[in-house]
Amino acid sequence: MSALDLVSALTQLVYVVIFLSVATRAVREPSSAHADMTLFFGAVAFIIVVARLAAVIGPTPPWLVTVEIAILMALPYVLLRLVDDFTKVRSIISRAAELGLAAGIVAAYATAPTLPTPVLLYIVAYFFVVSIYCASAFIAAGRRSRGVTRRRMQAVSLGSILLGTDILIAGLTPLAQPVDRAALQALQQLLGLGSGVAYYLGFAPPPILRRAWQEPELRAFLARSASLPRLPTTLDIVRELEHGAANSTGTAARIGLWQEDVARLRFWQDDGTTADVEAGQQLSGRAFELQRAIFSTDPIRDNPDAAASYRSRNVGAVLAAPITAGERRLGVLILTAARPPIFAASDIELAGLLADQAAVILESRALIDHAARVRAREEATRLKEDFLSAAAHDLKTPLTTVVAQAEFLERRATREPTAPADIAGIKRVVRESKRLAGLVADLLDATRLEQGRLVGEREPVDLATLAQEVCGHDGGDRGVCEVQANAPVVGVYDRRRVEQLLENLVENAKKYSPQRTPVTIRVWQQDGEARVTVRDLGIGIPAADLPRIFERFSRASNVDDRRFHGMGLGLFICRGIVEEHGGRIWVESEIGKGSTFHVALPIGDGRRLN
Ligand code: ADP
Repeated sequence: MSALDLVSALTQLVYVVIFLSVATRAVREPSSAHADMTLFFGAVAFIIVVARLAAVIGPTPPWLVTVEIAILMALPYVLLRLVDDFTKVRSIISRAAELGLAAGIVAAYATAPTLPTPVLLYIVAYFFVVSIYCASAFIAAGRRSRGVTRRRMQAVSLGSILLGTDILIAGLTPLAQPVDRAALQALQQLLGLGSGVAYYLGFAPPPILRRAWQEPELRAFLARSASLPRLPTTLDIVRELEHGAANSTGTAARIGLWQEDVARLRFWQDDGTTADVEAGQQLSGRAFELQRAIFSTDPIRDNPDAAASYRSRNVGAVLAAPITAGERRLGVLILTAARPPIFAASDIELAGLLADQAAVILESRALIDHAARVRAREEATRLKEDFLSAAAHDLKTPLTTVVAQAEFLERRATREPTAPADIAGIKRVVRESKRLAGLVADLLDATRLEQGRLVGEREPVDLATLAQEVCGHDGGDRGVCEVQANAPVVGVYDRRRVEQLLENLVENAKKYSPQRTPVTIRVWQQDGEARVTVRDLGIGIPAADLPRIFERFSRASNVDDRRFHGMGLGLFICRGIVEEHGGRIWVESEIGKGSTFHVALPIGDGRRLN
């Protein structure tokens, strides 16, 4: 056996192997693309077998020559049908190919077995032109696809070019000079082998090659997805995953997530609305329920309920793959395309990998959310404990004084009923009881504030007059508190709460200042807002404490409980009152020089407009 015979036998073997591979697939997963592939390689296998038989039995009868020619010419035509399975071949081209085929068969029948040169030339020209057209269609489709599909398309187009050229050379060889014929025959054998190998890689690539071709896209997807679990919302993650899956497959991608509370799959549409699907309903619900990928080459038939939507979106093929992490069913990945993909098995494999990766990302996200919830619960518990210990501590001191003083008064009154009343002791009881009542009121207000119901009924209030009243509350200190206001500033507020706000600020200004240093309240109107400032020349607030000074239980580092009683709730309540009125509060302060608290309230009806 010569080297060329070996090449020829090898080529034939390759084609027969491809035929067996595509035929098995066509039986297992019937589709028009699989049927056309089987037809194509079946025809090649038939020609090979006939040629082998002819070598044993003797000259081929004329009718068999005609059949062989018909089948040979049908090859590129079947390839054209295959192209039409996944992209659109214009009908004029299909009709021309059919006419050309019919003309060739008639000419071969009329002249077999001699086949004059013009007929031979016609047959090879037809083969060549149609093969090259198909090759270019495969190249164009390859450009539009990604990963494995793209490589397989490229291999198929190379196979078609090599086969077309092979047949062209085979047809021209008898016309060549006898000296050139041997070289042309060798070239022919090599082209034949090349086409066989290229078709093998395109139509029946071994798994190792498929994985290698898949790797770059998958790697890119993985690289992008590493940071996804940290995106702000699950919807952001879903959008990124959809984007990544669309890029990796060259199709449109959608992800539906299972919502435990309503027991439905939820899809987020581009217009911001959501669409829910029950388990077992539609293709997505079925893939989710069965926990396996579902591939439909005719979604309108397989899921008539969504026919209108498929038509409007020009969807001709749907692939639904469940997204599952271990036992946890998280959702489905849906890939849609205008036409069924030619290499569906590769796409199903890739979709499965992408869905698994999506599951990992969504699961990490769920873990992050869970950890955040646990942290928030711990924080809430900690706050509650802080609150209780602060409250208990702050209530205990005045309460101890009240109880001790009251017991002392009781003992004294029992011992000497006629003695004059201890006015100073009684005053102490009253003062400390008032302080207690104030602390309890603050605690209640802080709780109300948490529930957003601090501010109640509103009425027109003149802040200038109110400031005067607050300033005058503590009669003894009249000279210390001063109001600067040129005109009334009227807004619609909860009078009691705004009074409480001003009182808190003025009390703080006095509390955190040396005795009898002045406190100034300024009231004016500016840029459509009511503005109030409360200024003191007291101890000031360290810059580092300023950002947290309006938070619950926050006290500056320069105050301690022995010199300045307090719970750190006053400013928290002030901010609540101002914000519930739709206003702002802030402070400017310099340590040792004093503080100015600023309040801006809306003049309108005091409600937030949003
Ligand atoms: P409390 O006065 O009960 O501690 P507040 O919420 O009213 O609680 O004030 C929080 C903290 O802000 C105070 O502990 C104090 O450190 C600081 N602060 C408030 N007002 C003034 C002020 N006018 N001058 C200096 N520091 C102040």
